[in-house]
Amino acid sequence: LLEIQGLSKHFGGLHVTADVDFTLDAGELHCLIGPNGAGKSTFFRLILGVVSPDRGKIVLAGKDITRLKPFQRVHEGMSVKFQVPGIFKTLSVSQNLQTALQHNCDADALAGKIAEMLDFLGLAAEARSPAGNLSHGQKQWLEIGMAVCLKPRLLLLDEPTAGMSPKETEATGELVKSLNAQGVTVLVVEHDMAFVRQVAQRVTVMHLGRIFAQGTVEEVMADSRVEAIYLGRSHA
Ligand code: ATP
Ligand code: MG
Repeated sequence: LLEIQGLSKHFGGLHVTADVDFTLDAGELHCLIGPNGAGKSTFFRLILGVVSPDRGKIVLAGKDITRLKPFQRVHEGMSVKFQVPGIFKTLSVSQNLQTALQHNCDADALAGKIAEMLDFLGLAAEARSPAGNLSHGQKQWLEIGMAVCLKPRLLLLDEPTAGMSPKETEATGELVKSLNAQGVTVLVVEHDMAFVRQVAQRVTVMHLGRIFAQGTVEEVMADSRVEAIYLGRSHA
């Protein structure tokens, strides 16, 4: 679904993304991990087109999107949930979903779709509450739901469980897995290893702007080189 070749970006003398090749198959649920400053968020911004690369190529579903603007990439089937909440606090939970759904849904189907999404997110009881009153975890779920309303082929999540309790983190994992089961390809940057174990089919480890390791969760966890970079003992 996503093919990236030789993607590079530097800020000053710092090679934040250094000649990265990366492939994501349709239907995959893939986690991107790596120490702070590894370049994960920058990699996401490059995929989204918020940051433009020095070199390299990004192909989504067979189409070269390297030079497309972010909104054009959304039309090509990309959707994202950033770390900073993008919900409308004074609107109700239902109204927030409505803003995301109304673009690709008939008016007569809208109420049904909203109800369906509320159920899926476990937010039916909060439908009429202002989104600003939700718990931290619920806000994140609402935002994932809004990203999903755009019917993406590829959903990018940057640290969806940041600031969540273990219980909320686990519920988020189930949410992401059921999305994936419905056919959405998901790439998620995550620090919480319990979450990665829970959801990931494949894991990529990024370090110093490069792909350092790749494999199943078990393979990556068993790799002593990966452990070393987290302990700050490797600069390979
Ligand atoms: P974290 O796990 O802490 O979120 P990350 O893997 O997402 O880290 P990035 O945010 O991509 O890492 O940052 C990688 C490096 O690039 C860091 O050293 C950061 O300071 C630098 N960097 C990122 N954006 C810019 C920018 N716009 N200008 C200069 N340097 C930048
Ligand atoms: Mg980051």
